Amino acid sequence: MVAIQLTRLSKHYQEQVVIPALDLTIPDRQITALIGPSGSGKSTILNMIAGLTVPSSGQILFDDHPVFDQQRGTSMPPAKRHLAMVFQDFALWPHMTVAGNVSFALAPKLSKSELTHRVDWALSQVGLTDLRDRYPRELSGGQQQRVALARAIAVKPKLILFDEALSALDPQLRASLQIEISRLIHQNQLTALFVTHDRQEALRIADHVVLIRDGRVVQAGSPTTLYQRPVNAFAAKFF
Ligand code: ADP
Ligand code: MG
Repeated sequence: MVAIQLTRLSKHYQEQVVIPALDLTIPDRQITALIGPSGSGKSTILNMIAGLTVPSSGQILFDDHPVFDQQRGTSMPPAKRHLAMVFQDFALWPHMTVAGNVSFALAPKLSKSELTHRVDWALSQVGLTDLRDRYPRELSGGQQQRVALARAIAVKPKLILFDEALSALDPQLRASLQIEISRLIHQNQLTALFVTHDRQEALRIADHVVLIRDGRVVQAGSPTTLYQRPVNAFAAKFF
């Protein structure tokens, strides 16, 4: 099954064409790494999928449902996309505890006991049960990113979008979080789009790698294929 299908998707700002016409398939229940140099359009693609950026033209299908209705100028409500996002800067609420941050997006939808259950579950998934009453400022960078990860999975999304989520962390922490993210995604049968500019990270974490340059797909395939059989000099140099 295909989770997300991008067809002739484009984005331009005035005369600058950031994404010319992108065709891309993001397979279900896998981790797809979107990799490319800085400025190649990775965040723009991710933000269009998230609904934060409106495409100039083209289509995005979520499980065969179009996100944008170009004729009516409407879009699928974010909640119907069943997605969560994890950013480089964690984006936690400083005035809320760990548990408060994780439960924030859930609060209106669940009963009190369901809420407690869900928060406990999410925190245990990332090994933060003991820190539930701490505030973000009392946590290390790695712990803060675990809170962001718990907050993402707590909404029971189908898709998690990561934008350079580990780029601010030191190499050792990154390596352990790569393993944790991979385990979380696969155990919970989620789909992930993992944007990074770090080739090692992409090769380690992804089931499927998409290399982009100037908003165009250079090569897509398994990590082994991209590493061992680059299609051109750019791909060879990149990996
Ligand atoms: P990446 O995430 O791969 O580094 P981005 O998607 O952030 O790349 O940016 C791709 C290009 O689009 C860059 O040249 C950037 O300057 C441009 N861009 C991104 N967002 C905007 C915006 N809101 N207005 C104008 N240009 C933008
Ligand atoms: Mg970016």
